[in-house]
Amino acid sequence: MPSHGQKTWDAVVIGAGPAGATAARRLSNAGASTLLLEKQSLPRYKACGGGVPARTLQLLDGLDISPVSEGHVDTIDVSRFGQHQFRKRSNRPLAWMVMRDRFDQYLTDLAADSGVTVRDSTPVQSIVENGGSYEIDTPTGAVAARHILAADGATGPTARWLGIDSAPTRSAAYEVEVAAPTTALDHWHQAANVDVGYRPWGYGWVFPKDGKLSVGVVTAPKQGRSIRKQTDRYLSRLGLGDAEAIKVQGHPIRYRRSTNEPVARGRALLLGDAAGLADEFTAEGIAYAVHSANLAADAILHAADPASSYTRSINREIQPELNAARTISRLYYWCLTTWPWLALKMSKHVNYLWRAFFRVMRGESTYARELARLPGSQFAQDLLQ
Ligand SMILES: Cc1cc2nc3c(=O)[nH]c(=O)nc-3n(C[C@H](O)[C@H](O)[C@H](O)COP(=O)(O)OP(=O)(O)OC[C@H]3O[C@@H](n4cnc5c(N)ncnc54)[C@H](O)[C@@H]3O)c2cc1C
Repeated sequence: MPSHGQKTWDAVVIGAGPAGATAARRLSNAGASTLLLEKQSLPRYKACGGGVPARTLQLLDGLDISPVSEGHVDTIDVSRFGQHQFRKRSNRPLAWMVMRDRFDQYLTDLAADSGVTVRDSTPVQSIVENGGSYEIDTPTGAVAARHILAADGATGPTARWLGIDSAPTRSAAYEVEVAAPTTALDHWHQAANVDVGYRPWGYGWVFPKDGKLSVGVVTAPKQGRSIRKQTDRYLSRLGLGDAEAIKVQGHPIRYRRSTNEPVARGRALLLGDAAGLADEFTAEGIAYAVHSANLAADAILHAADPASSYTRSINREIQPELNAARTISRLYYWCLTTWPWLALKMSKHVNYLWRAFFRVMRGESTYARELARLPGSQFAQDLLQ
């Protein structure tokens, strides 16, 4: 219990990932007293390819992430079961490469600089709603908040405690940070590998970082048990079977599939992965985490009923993207598993599709807009949702 006379924070943000750190910074910048609670000791490792889609920077108001960027990717190299197929190049960066411990720490430091009180190694243990505020229990004592922003990721407990049924787990992902030889680092300079052929769907990736490669596989949750073997096979095909694995970790990804899946209740809002805001085509979630953080902060600062306002904003600005990405992913994997060679030939020769994908990554377009341009897209969307 918070002791008598204890401060009630305007907002307590749970989880110092991109969603939590961004929301906390925006709230504090607008004058809200904000506490950011993080379970782990910071900086903390997060299993993630660390590909920050270029459009994320617009959502971060043009923030300079160069202090923590380890380069960028402008080329996509497509292989099937490790066999090279083709490369496609964008004339501008598609994604910035980061290690999540440094990137998330950077965002958290910026939040602290704007006045947020940050407490790491402080897991939230329970939440009780108490009239006009929430009591949040931690090992170092309880705190009180008028608003809760739950940004505790795909495995966080907060949504459950708050009675908000969030998106179920829909894929398993596995990440290995590899100390790669110079030849491999040169080969993947500014280029990401996307390895296809996984069943029922999924892909392998290589993202280049400073002196190492982030290599991983994302696939159906049922494949979770074999994902480590699949990743080892992928590493061997890349010629990295003997390279030193610096860090190895698996993590689930959740996808919100419908506006019926709640993202808020009362004065508590779910952000980023906690709300299942990752897309089913690329399995990326950093841009959506930041976008939801902006929407959540706006709802708390400006709306009479933050939960309804936030839910409407998510349904209007993010859900159409998740729906379109899901349709594209289903079409793509259906083609790829039914006619693999035809699908690869089409992927190689229909440059329009690549230009559309690159526009989305760079924030010049959206999946929904690009999908709507395709003939029969509404029919495909109705059929495949
Ligand atoms: C293997 C893998 C690769 C990926 N690659 C990419 C990629 O390349 N690009 C991309 O855009 N997305 C990628 N994603 C998705 C991306 O990692 C997530 O979408 C993103 O991290 C979501 O950010 P978040 O802030 O919502 O949650 P998180 O980054 O997961 O942060 C949640 C935080 O909450 C903390 N927390 C949990 N419980 C508590 C508690 N009880 N109390 C206090 N704190 C708590 C956690 O310790 C954590 O720090 C990948 C995901 C996986 C699994």
